[in-house]
Order: sequence, then structure tokens, then C-alpha cells
Amino acid sequence: MRAVDIIEKKRDGETLTEGEVKFFLENYSQGKIPDYQMSAFLMAVYFRGMDDNELKYFTAEMINSGETIDFPGTHKFLVDKHSTGGVGDKTTIALAPVLGALGMGTAKLSGKGLGHTGGTIDKFESIKGFKFCETREELIELVNKVGTGLMGASERIVPLDKKLYALRDVTATVSSIPLIASSIMSKKLAVHADAIILDVKVGSGAFMRTFEDAKELAETMHKLGKLFNRNIVCMLSNMDEPLGNAVGNSLEVIEAIETVKGRGPKLFQDLIVRLAAQALKMKGDVSTIEEGMERVEEVIVSGKALDNLKAFIQASGGDPRVCDDYSLLDVAEEVTPYLATEDGYISAIAADEIGRAAMMLGAGRATKEDDIDHSVGIIMKAKVGTKVKKGDKILDFYHKGNLTESIVTVINSAIQYSTEKVSEKPIILEIIGG
Ligand code: URA
Repeated sequence: MRAVDIIEKKRDGETLTEGEVKFFLENYSQGKIPDYQMSAFLMAVYFRGMDDNELKYFTAEMINSGETIDFPGTHKFLVDKHSTGGVGDKTTIALAPVLGALGMGTAKLSGKGLGHTGGTIDKFESIKGFKFCETREELIELVNKVGTGLMGASERIVPLDKKLYALRDVTATVSSIPLIASSIMSKKLAVHADAIILDVKVGSGAFMRTFEDAKELAETMHKLGKLFNRNIVCMLSNMDEPLGNAVGNSLEVIEAIETVKGRGPKLFQDLIVRLAAQALKMKGDVSTIEEGMERVEEVIVSGKALDNLKAFIQASGGDPRVCDDYSLLDVAEEVTPYLATEDGYISAIAADEIGRAAMMLGAGRATKEDDIDHSVGIIMKAKVGTKVKKGDKILDFYHKGNLTESIVTVINSAIQYSTEKVSEKPIILEIIGG
């Protein structure tokens, strides 16, 4: 078998066999096929796509490039909720304790976040003393004890993805649906949760900007999950404006705690309740989402979910009193409002621009080496559809005296107004396989 023949076959739109896909990826992993041949192969996939079998073989090889992780000895139904990322995404912080209170578990591997704000682990680190698990044993112990365990992403899981992603990045082949689907799903399939819920974000603050692209990606990932016999649901959710109101690490932790108490922003609260209900349905505890939602509301209203969050924070070395006293979190003291520049209905709040402004304030990192400032960020005071008068407050900046003109300019371009009434968009746009 020769690499060039496999590239030629893919270039001409023929279907590769399992042996050919295996040969190509295995030899590339071992450094026996050079980057220039893999680049040509990726470009051929970009234009020709992959059929279901090729996608399955490709993803299987990605998984085989490293370790897989399972959780022997966890007694809980483990849910892996994964979002393709967006601005103000604090879903795991609010969802995990709700699932914990319902008797389910969340075992999550998470890397350092790049972009507008930190990742889930960075956000939890806004809580002084908070430490995430360093070994799988610690993670399993924590999952058994409280339901939630967080651990840094291992370099040993799907190492081929890192190598391929770096190459895709410089060969204009990132935006290929089969390559994105196999990249995301190989990392999900390498970790053995009982249920996978993929939240594919759509809109200005998301990786997938159009509904059609996001739907195709969600359907492809759902199909892959099924091909690997996994219990999987994919949902499409709106990321045209930030999720909830808070963008920034400590600010997002506060909003997530409020949501666990049942007092979160309406659309974000709704997302958490529906996601948890979906998990109950996948576990088989309820037969409809509505029945699941009732069970979820019970653990929120009774305070069981909040108790679970406190137990998790305590077991992770943090001070659980933070849930009742937000002054224990580091929040920037300088707060400056941004005011509406026109009368009308807010017709757009470009999530990517809000994220960029938060990052310019110091909430996110551009490279893995950068430090983040947990205390800074933005709180939205208006959403798409809100009726405002010129001079009304649209948002608050939480900053450390570094609110520059260029940050305000970014916000000016993010907010748009309409004289016509604008209705709010639902948070969940579609569910695949629910
Ligand atoms: N996220 C991933 O993990 N992989 C991709 O290819 C794109 C987004």
C-alpha cells in the first residue's frame, strides 16, 4: 500500500476501505507519512467528504492513537455534556450539581480555555482554594461521593487530533464537517460516559455560524455516536447573543450559582432544566422531557442542587460559603455602564464582539501561557428583543481601570437597534435523537 495511491483515490471521490484509512492514519501517527501527504489527504477529504463507513474508520483510528478512559467503580449514570463553545457558556457549572442532585454523575476532562473567557476549570478556579482532580482515581472518588469530577484534559487521549488540528489550521481544512465531527467525537468516544449530550452552538459567537452548517455537524456527530453504539443526543442552541447575562469568570460562576438556586436568567435557566431533563430521559428514569423537567425543578426548588454544588466545592478544596456570599469571589470593583445610543428594540447583540470585549478587559487568554483575570467581565442588562430608550443601561463593564476607547468601540458595533418589535429567540433550536 502506498500513501500516494490512497490520496489519489480520495481525490477522485472513491471510497476508502478500512485497511486504507488505518494504514494512512497509523503511519502518519508514527511519523512514517509526512505532513505534506497528510495535507493533500485532508484537502481531498475537504472536497470529497467521507461516507459513513470511512468516517467510522477514521474516527476509530483517531481514538486508537491514544488511551481511552473509563470509570470502573463509579456507581452513577455518567453524563458527558459537551458544548462546541460560545460566549458566556457556564453550562457545566450549573448543570453538574443539578445532575448530581438527581443521582447522576458528571466526569469531565477540560483544557485551559482560549478565547473570550477561561474554560470550565478556569471558571471554577475563580473560587479560592479550588483544585481539580489530578488523577483518574481522585476523579472516580469524587464522582462517587458527590457526582461531579473535573480533571485537566490528558494529552494522552486522542493525541492524533492535536497533530491533525495543527495541520488543518495551516492548510485551510478546519471547516470540513467530517473532520470536525471526527475530531470532536473521537474525544467523546474515548471517554466512556453512559450518555453523551452534545450542545452544538449556532450563531455569531459560535464555531458554526449558520443553522444549516450546525445542523449538518450535529447530524454527523449523532450518526457517529450511533455507529459506535452510544446513547447520544445532539441539540442545536442559539449563540447569536451571549448565553445568560454574565461573561467573565467570577461573574459567570455567580450566575451559575444563581441558576442552581432557580434564579438564573430565563433562557439559561431553561437550558439547564431541559438538559437535565434530557439526561433523565436518556437514563430511562422518565419517559418524557416534561416529566423530567418536573423532577429537575424539584431538586432546584428544594435546594438539593445547591447542597450538591456546595459539597462539590468543599470536596475540591474551595469554600462552599461562596454560594451564599459572593463577596468571597474576586470581582472587579470598578463598574462602568454602557448606555443605549438609540431608542428602539435591541435587534442584535453580537456574541463574538461581546466575547472580544471581555477578553480585552482581561477575562480570556490568547495563548495558553497567558494569565487570565478572574475578576473582570461584562454583565448584560438587555437582551435581543428588549425595548430601550437612548441612555438606558445595556451592560456593565467590570474592569480594573483598563476600559479603553477601543473596547467601547467593539461594543458599539455589537449592539444593533430596530424600530420594529423584535421577538426573543428560543434557546434550543432543535434536538436530534432526543
Ligand atoms: N473543536 C474540535 O475539537 N475540533 C474541531 O475540529 C473543531 C472544533
